[in-house]
Amino acid sequence: MSKKNSNKCSFCGKAKEDVQILIAGIDGYICENCIAQAKQIIDTEIFHLPAKKEHSSILPKNLKPKAIKEYLDQYVIGQDEAKKVIAVAVYNHYKRLNQAVQEDEVEIEKSNILLVGSTGTGKTLIAKSIAKLLNVPFAIVDATVFTEAGYVGEDVESILSRLLQVCNYDTALAEKGIVYIDEVDKIARKSDNPSITRDVSGEGVQQAMLKLLEGTEVLVPPHGGRKHPEQKLIKVDTKNILFICGGSFDGIDKVISKRMHTSVVGFKKGRDGQVVDKDNMLPYITHQDVRSFGLIPELIGRLPVLSHLEPLDKQALTDILTKPKNALLKQYKKLFALEGITFDMDESSIDYVVEKALEYKLGARGLRSICEAIINDAMYEMPSNTDIKDFIVDAAYAEEKLNKSKISKLKVA
Ligand code: ADP
Repeated sequence: MSKKNSNKCSFCGKAKEDVQILIAGIDGYICENCIAQAKQIIDTEIFHLPAKKEHSSILPKNLKPKAIKEYLDQYVIGQDEAKKVIAVAVYNHYKRLNQAVQEDEVEIEKSNILLVGSTGTGKTLIAKSIAKLLNVPFAIVDATVFTEAGYVGEDVESILSRLLQVCNYDTALAEKGIVYIDEVDKIARKSDNPSITRDVSGEGVQQAMLKLLEGTEVLVPPHGGRKHPEQKLIKVDTKNILFICGGSFDGIDKVISKRMHTSVVGFKKGRDGQVVDKDNMLPYITHQDVRSFGLIPELIGRLPVLSHLEPLDKQALTDILTKPKNALLKQYKKLFALEGITFDMDESSIDYVVEKALEYKLGARGLRSICEAIINDAMYEMPSNTDIKDFIVDAAYAEEKLNKSKISKLKVA
């Protein structure tokens, strides 16, 4: 092997320091980028797979905000307000992205999104559905695992490790992806924080997230966790990554009420006729409330689009169980159909499941656990019993099975 070029890729000429890996051959080297390119050529030439999508223009031309919302309607029940706001934000985000190459004085700012709503109301589902529609990489991360540098926990940069992992370390692809950061409310600054030195999981993490959300080149540990010195870091530019943050912000209704109360008192006459639903203050949420809750202004500034999700009522839960494209009931029907069995749940059993989900305060997330508890026995028995051709669940059957299951022991708060 010639010593001369021993630290360069023989194909693109990149030096060892500039790539992740250099694989040695008999008389040369190849880096990961050239391997990826070669693989693409093999895929198209030999296996006739479609060539890799060109990612410079992700948003199809005819995909207007209305069409985005209509797409979301197929998967997400209710939440019209949030879906509309997100449709516009996503449309603008990718419009900005498609224009990024143009020299222009007007710079369109990023439209990162903050979603506020109780757990199980569809925040993650909306983010996931958007990523599916656009066919871009999508990663979900939990804000609570991050701590600021110097403390035990993950560096915020590892938010991007997940994104890189889902697109097989294709940096260009990751740079146009969507990241959903869950439980962002849990990193809120607490005014009654007992630590006299630093708020380990709160403000420091928010500070660390700033540059990430804004758009900058970040060095990402490929496998997440801490930036170990021996780990080769991957450079990712976040300027075109759409960040959607979500959280339940428990107790924010009180913050909103407090603010509304002052303004209602202050502008009572001007606000005549406006009915305020005291049980659901979320529709009135503003950035100011999020700030009072404990997110720092700089972070709020980088999440300019704010929307809320409604709590799910009986009708919404019934619809979630039966209507979306991949509704739970449709999934069960398909599973049984594969066994040659016609499955259905009658109205009384659907009502019963929904009542229980409301009673256990499990929201939409609970529908699945309850249904599983009800039909698990049947799913266990029926594949071995070829005589059964129909299986229709009614309320009596549902109640009997649920009472026997662990889930019925759930204490109602
Ligand atoms: P969260 O708001 O906590 O992020 P998720 O989006 O993860 O909640 O919802 C949990 C599950 O509940 C979803 O996978 C979905 O099946 C169901 N779900 C929740 N809200 C809705 C909704 N509005 N429409 C349809 N399904 C929903």
